[in-house]
Amino acid sequence: MTARRPGFPAQLGPSAGAVPAARKVAAPAGRSAAAAPVRPQGLGLDSGAVRARMVQKLASQGVSDAQVLAAMGSVERHRFVDSALVNQAYEDTSLPIGLGQTISKPNVVARMAELLMGGARGQDGKLGRVLEIGTGCGYQAAVLSLLASEVYSIERLRGLHDKARDNLRAFRLANVHLLFGDGMAGYARGAPYAGIIAAAGGEAIPQAWVDQLAMGGRIIAPMVTAGGHQALVLLEKTPAKLKQTVLEAVHFVPLKSGIA
Ligand code: SAH
Repeated sequence: MTARRPGFPAQLGPSAGAVPAARKVAAPAGRSAAAAPVRPQGLGLDSGAVRARMVQKLASQGVSDAQVLAAMGSVERHRFVDSALVNQAYEDTSLPIGLGQTISKPNVVARMAELLMGGARGQDGKLGRVLEIGTGCGYQAAVLSLLASEVYSIERLRGLHDKARDNLRAFRLANVHLLFGDGMAGYARGAPYAGIIAAAGGEAIPQAWVDQLAMGGRIIAPMVTAGGHQALVLLEKTPAKLKQTVLEAVHFVPLKSGIA
């Protein structure tokens, strides 16, 4: 895999089969979920305490994976939302991120990460390569970067792909690879994945995701179920079968094809 420098955007062509080189968010550096330069923000120095309260709430809501809670406690969510929304960054609510899209509420991000972590993990307790469909503002990619060896995150809207790159640059997460393209086709060059997580819901799980999933891996995605409502779906790939479990109702933005 060749990493491209920021400024030379990776792009999945509209034509089938074209796959880009993933682009690293920043040069390899120490992994930290705290951004290096401190931008002036409404939350200032208190954000750690506010995040700790958010983590307590997540735990009281049933999130129990210690690594997930630690990741949620360390990624500065307020750096991913517009300055006017900074004071709501740690509330359990989804927030607009532009172009009609939303950042999922912390509880949903943590729940999905925890479900992903239920799959096969490496000796270090982390997941291997993970594919995220729907980078949005990049927040969930930052959380996943602390739970997985590599994160490939794909976004179909150029404006958000660029925003995520800007948001993530200061975090210097060398294992996050941002891709611009249609995530319905997955990203074959990073496959097989230990986990695939979608932040947008379609009518079905695309076959490409199933094909690109490693044995023992998990797909967590919102999907329209029989009743016409959206629910979180867990797919587990084992040598014997593909096991599908329909979980709780959710409200995600639609999974769309093509790029814009
Ligand atoms: N994980 C994101 C949530 C973003 S909302 C965050 O932390 O901010 C879901 C995103 O999925 C939107 O940005 C939307 O543009 C994107 N999306 C929808 N269909 C897609 C597709 N086929 N491929 C890639 N991204 C898609």
